[in-house]
Amino acid sequence: MNIAVIGSGIAGLTAGYLLSQKHTVTLYERQPTPGMDAFSVDLEGGVRLDVPMRLNYPGYYRALLAMYAHLGIETQRLQANATFLTPDGHPYFRFSTRRLGPLALPQLDGEPSGQWSAGQIAADAWRLAQQASHDLASGTVGNVTLEDYLAHNRYSADLAEGFLYPFYATISTCAYATVRNMPAQVILETLNPRILLSGFRTFQRVKHGTQAVVKALTQPIQSLRLSTTVEAVCRVPGGVQVVENNGASSVYDHAIIATQANHALKLVADANPAERSVLHAFPYESCEVVIHTDANLLPPCSRDWAQMNFVVGSEDVLPTATGWMNPAYPELAARPPIFHTLNPASPIDPAHIIDRTWFERATLSPTALPAWQTLQNLHNERGRQLWFVGAYATPGLALQENAAESAVQVALRLGVAPPWER
Ligand SMILES: Cc1cc2nc3c(=O)[nH]c(=O)nc-3n(C[C@H](O)[C@H](O)[C@H](O)COP(=O)(O)OP(=O)(O)OC[C@H]3O[C@@H](n4cnc5c(N)ncnc54)[C@H](O)[C@@H]3O)c2cc1C
Repeated sequence: MNIAVIGSGIAGLTAGYLLSQKHTVTLYERQPTPGMDAFSVDLEGGVRLDVPMRLNYPGYYRALLAMYAHLGIETQRLQANATFLTPDGHPYFRFSTRRLGPLALPQLDGEPSGQWSAGQIAADAWRLAQQASHDLASGTVGNVTLEDYLAHNRYSADLAEGFLYPFYATISTCAYATVRNMPAQVILETLNPRILLSGFRTFQRVKHGTQAVVKALTQPIQSLRLSTTVEAVCRVPGGVQVVENNGASSVYDHAIIATQANHALKLVADANPAERSVLHAFPYESCEVVIHTDANLLPPCSRDWAQMNFVVGSEDVLPTATGWMNPAYPELAARPPIFHTLNPASPIDPAHIIDRTWFERATLSPTALPAWQTLQNLHNERGRQLWFVGAYATPGLALQENAAESAVQVALRLGVAPPWER
């Protein structure tokens, strides 16, 4: 069969890689390079930084890491440590992990901030991890928001405001209010002790960067149409028509939309109400990523720096966090500090800025749960020729894992099983 894939983030690349084993794939991407690597930054000395930072950890990233292992993509362990700072740079909560055989035991500490207590955060986090395991296993979570779940189970403001909201606002790159409104179920699944104690020990990145992933995944794809923007996709007799913005068009047996949901909504000219409701269910929020060398965003003493440094401000600002790149890239070990800051709260000296980019990210609300079910029902329809994949398209936070898993599920429906164990 002839199959079009529109978008070359990790979802489109995974779909293209798998389907090209059995079908003829044409992959469309509006950027001049495959989208997954389009915003990486080249530094002096041949070091290429992944932008945005793309971390993963075993236990949660099962589809992605099984695919990487199959492709021979090496990963590199990072220190799983983080510091939570007040806006004036006071580290009130730190966590790191200490390895003990197959386990990774969290170590928690902090200094009194007058606002949140590290001890209370640690005690409540442990209770929440255990309750998450129990409530998920017994199916009693329901479709409640994180805020309602925490209030109903009497968790402290220290845990909610001092840790959970800033942490999930950062990893989901969304507003604090959005995290409050996220389905509790999605968050609890990431807090399962099985993941925390075994998989979480190895925060990691791809050793040779997203460029290596892109190279491996594009290699078998029959036709790669870079710098090609798709204007519209619609069903026609005999297939699905893909129309480019220069007016050229082609008809395929199947088309896989691997763009953001809000872009898919504009692309699919003949979307039916169920498709529209799914694509509408995932609002997008913007965030800024700045790559720079200005150490003023971190505490004055580098001993207080962690791999990830969260600055927890008021709820009406976007989450701010700075990743310290040098420990993550052995090539940068001997170089001056370089940082990846999400939504800088204070100005960065322009002389220190290497790159700045805006991204959009799907956010989750209680409408996500029924939307995932509707999407599955749509994909189960007999004779379906139009498919939706992406980080938003399978249950969970909008991470690379969810993007890869959504592509695997569509490949299976089109008769291609992944050549790795699921
Ligand atoms: C700051 C930040 C940090 C992150 N950190 C992590 C992390 O540590 N770990 C993690 O797992 N995830 C992380 N993520 C999320 C992760 O990057 C996304 O989940 C993932 O990239 C989404 O992949 P995707 O394939 O679904 O979509 P995308 O990567 O958005 O790909 C969609 C592609 O479609 C293309 N496209 C759109 N419209 C058209 C058109 N009309 N014609 C042709 N092409 C089109 C786009 O150019 C793009 O390349 C982070 C995200 C951000 C913003």
